[in-house]
Amino acid sequence: MSDADPQATCEICGGANPSWHVDSDRWNTALYRGAIACPSCFIEAHEAATGMRSTWALVPSTPFRWIDDDGRPTPFGEVLR
Ligand SMILES: [Zn+2]
Repeated sequence: MSDADPQATCEICGGANPSWHVDSDRWNTALYRGAIACPSCFIEAHEAATGMRSTWALVPSTPFRWIDDDGRPTPFGEVLR
């Protein structure tokens, strides 16, 4: 038995699956509840289900952390000036 995160692997392509989310309506239109899919496989399924091709925005989820001048995330709650 492995302690690995079962959601760390995409069930469709077998590739790495980072922690991410999308609105449930879009998810349910493209895939099915309980599926584990990486962003690329989700987008492919979404295009197949909707016919919609789009550029997707990738933004960090809250709590937001800024990136400092050295390319490192700032501590939670810190605001860059
Ligand atoms: Zn995948």
